[in-house]
Amino acid sequence: MRDKILLYSGGMDSTVLLHQYSDSIRLAVCFQYGSKHNHQEKKYAELNCKKLGVEFKVVNIDLVGMGLESSLLTSGDKIPHGHYTHKSMISTVVPFRNGIMLSIAAGIAETLNCKSILISNHAGDHAIYPDCREGFISAISSAISNGTYNNINVMAPFTNDTKRDVAIIGKGIGVDFSNTYSCYEGMESHCGKCGTCIERKEALEGFDDTVYA
Ligand SMILES: [Zn+2]
Repeated sequence: MRDKILLYSGGMDSTVLLHQYSDSIRLAVCFQYGSKHNHQEKKYAELNCKKLGVEFKVVNIDLVGMGLESSLLTSGDKIPHGHYTHKSMISTVVPFRNGIMLSIAAGIAETLNCKSILISNHAGDHAIYPDCREGFISAISSAISNGTYNNINVMAPFTNDTKRDVAIIGKGIGVDFSNTYSCYEGMESHCGKCGTCIERKEALEGFDDTVYA
């Protein structure tokens, strides 16, 4: 039964979820929120959904127009280079992004009579992204459940896994990571230097066929 909505960026982690739950996903929702790399992610998101026969929908939300600030957004400063745990990486936080996307997904899920929303936050995000942590996920799951007739819950199976753990799960079920995109810079090839590129390299070590610039 297709009763789940997937928040699907086209990055590594949500692509693993797409493969794991492809038989029960009613709709994969790809948010275009004004980031520098949204358009690159979207290409792979669309491709993977087509390949697995999962319905795909692009939802545009103009966070730039709403005045939100982040170096990740097209209106923001340069993307910092370095590891995620560095203080400079805080500039890449898009304020309450997961909260905003989960709220919209809850409305879509209720409309389509779905039971769950899948999100691929993982433990590597915890250092700087508050809306990726367990406390937030369980609180918003409870809020969405209380606020919908279907008592929709949030499923975040990777919350306590590292990105390496997620990569190994993906490798085990045959995910082709060359059809995923991570880089915050949003160029054709991965820069290899931003926080998410460094994290990607560490996660895929030993089976990384990404071409870095
Ligand atoms: Zn990069």
